[in-house]
Amino acid sequence: MGSEMKKTKEEWIAEGESAFYKTYNRFPVVFERGEGLYLYDTDGTAYQDFYAGIAVNALGYGDPEYTACIKEQAERLLHISNYFYNPPSIRAGEKLRKAAQMDKVFFTNSGTEAVEGAVKIARRYAYGKDGSHDHEIIAMKDSFHGRSIGALSVTGNDHYQEPFRPLLPDIRFAVFNDLDSVKALFNEKTCAVIMETVQGEGGIFPATSKFLEGVRALCDAHGALLILDEIQCGMGRTGKMFAWQHYGVRPDVMTVAKALGNGVPVGAFLARGAAATAMVPGDHGTTYGGNPFVCAAAEKVLDIFEARKLTAHVEKVGRYLWEKLETVKARYAVVKEHRGIGLMQGLEFTVPVGPIVTNALLEQHLVLISAGTNVIRFVPPLVITEADVDAMIEKLTAAIERADR
Ligand SMILES: *Cc1c(COP(=O)(O)O)cnc(C)c1O
Repeated sequence: MGSEMKKTKEEWIAEGESAFYKTYNRFPVVFERGEGLYLYDTDGTAYQDFYAGIAVNALGYGDPEYTACIKEQAERLLHISNYFYNPPSIRAGEKLRKAAQMDKVFFTNSGTEAVEGAVKIARRYAYGKDGSHDHEIIAMKDSFHGRSIGALSVTGNDHYQEPFRPLLPDIRFAVFNDLDSVKALFNEKTCAVIMETVQGEGGIFPATSKFLEGVRALCDAHGALLILDEIQCGMGRTGKMFAWQHYGVRPDVMTVAKALGNGVPVGAFLARGAAATAMVPGDHGTTYGGNPFVCAAAEKVLDIFEARKLTAHVEKVGRYLWEKLETVKARYAVVKEHRGIGLMQGLEFTVPVGPIVTNALLEQHLVLISAGTNVIRFVPPLVITEADVDAMIEKLTAAIERADR
C-alpha cells in the first residue's frame, strides 16, 4: 500500500493497460473513492457524478445506512449456495416480488444473466406447451440486453453480434415503437417478445403507450410471453419503481439489475402466472446468485427506497432536470432532441458527443456518459437535488462550448 500511494496516474494507467484484456477504451482518469455525489481521483480532485456507474449507484457513494448494512452482513455470512435457505435472500425476494407485482423471483449476478433466465423461461414455457423446439422470439432493433450469448442474441445491434455468430436461432427483430413491425413478425411459433420499457443504450427512447399496449395485446392473442427488460429503467429511475408501472400493462417476465444492489453485483428475473412455474427443479441454477451478502444489500436498497420515498423524489427532481435540459436544447443549435422520463434522460446532438463528454470529464470534472454516438445520457444517482442539477448544467454548458470538435 505504501509504495502504491506514490504511483502517478500515468503509472496506474500503464499498469492497467498491461493487465486488462483490452475490451474497453477507458477514460484517462483513476478513481480512488466516492463520497455522496462525488468521485475522487488519485490526485484528490473531486468530480461530480452524473452517471452513477451506468445507472447503478442509486444512493450515491457511501450512504451510511447502506454501508453499515453490508458491513454487518459481511461479518455475519457471505455465501452458502442455493442448496440452503438464508434470511436476507428470503426477505429481499419477498420485497422485490411485491414491488414488482410478480409471483416469483430468481436472483442472478448481473443483468445479462437475468436476461438469460428470461430467455430460458420463454423457451421452457413454449416447450412445456407443445414439446417442440420450433419457437421464435421477437426482439427489438437498437436494443441492449447484455453480452452473454443468449442476451447478445436478442440485442439488436449488428456491430455487437457480428463477430460472435452463429447466435441463438429464431430471433426476429422488430422496430421499437412500430407496432406494425411487431405484428408482421408474429406467427404461431412466436413464444415471447422481449424489449426494454425504456431503451437505454440505444439512445433513451421510452416505449409509447400505444406500442406497449399493442404488444401486450398481440402477446395475449398468440399465447406469447411479454418480457420487459427493466435493468436500466427499473428501480425507481423513471419515477415509479418499475417503468412499466407508468403504463396500463404488466409483463409476464421482467429483468432487474443495475441499481438493485447499489454497487453490489446482483440482478434478478421475475415472473408471474404460467411463466412463474415454467422452469422446474434442474432447469436453472447459479452458484453465487442471490447469496446472503448481495441480498442484504438489495433488501436495504428496497427499504431505503420506501423509507425515503425515492420514487416521488425522482419524479420531482426529474421534472426539474427536464426543464433545465429544455433550456440547454433551446440554447444550442447542436442539440437536436430531448427525450426521457424521470432521471433517465438523453440529449441527442447533431454531432458526435464524444468530445463534449471528454471535455466535461477532464476539464469540468463532471462524469457523464453517452448512449450511442450522438446522445448524452443523464442517469445520475437518484438522491440528487435540484442544486446538483444546477451545478451539472453549468458544467455541461461549459463543455458544450469548449469541446473542440
Ligand atoms: C446494462 C444492461 C444489461 C446488461 O447488464 P449487465 O449487468 O451489464 O450484464 C441488460 N439490459 C439492459 C437494458 C441494460 O441496461
